[in-house]
Amino acid sequence: MSGRKGTVLKPDLSYLFEFNTAPENRGKWSRSHDYFVWTELRALTDPPLTVWKQIPEGVVRIPDSETVMQIVDGGTPHHIEHLFGYWRICDADIITVRSVQAEGVYYALILGGCSGTYFSDSIQWICPKCGHLLAKFDIESGRARWNAFWDEEAKCVAAFNEDPALRTCDECGAEHPLAYRFDPQHDSPAEAEARAQW
Ligand SMILES: [Zn+2]
Repeated sequence: MSGRKGTVLKPDLSYLFEFNTAPENRGKWSRSHDYFVWTELRALTDPPLTVWKQIPEGVVRIPDSETVMQIVDGGTPHHIEHLFGYWRICDADIITVRSVQAEGVYYALILGGCSGTYFSDSIQWICPKCGHLLAKFDIESGRARWNAFWDEEAKCVAAFNEDPALRTCDECGAEHPLAYRFDPQHDSPAEAEARAQW
């Protein structure tokens, strides 16, 4: 690396998080050619959006490190605390990013990649006490049916919240807290309370 003249600019954070520079776009999903991307900037004092993954060995809580990138492999049930009140299983990989900066905590979710991936999702709930599967809904989603995921998400969350029997574990009797949707604008007061909890 010798003989190079001139100045190599160090990009500032607005470039590294350029999708986050317009405040009106924060908290919303956008679509690039190959990816669905969601970004958010939250206050340093806000509770972390902790990622949970269900792997064959059990449930894993990913530590809220200052800078962390996780790949949630396609087919892996995952839940993100305070962001969506269910376990999502997407058949495509999802990358999660968390980065603590002076102005707040940046988050990103990146779903997609090459074409020929992403056709379906499932939404499920598992007993928080014993891990028993309480309910599972399969959704025909994918690139061509992106909105269908959110329509079905609304129905699944409503079905789960309306039915105490569905939320009660057959194995151990524990009752699951209410579910909530990704978009907090749809929260009922009880769902907003659940969002703060798990
Ligand atoms: Zn149970």
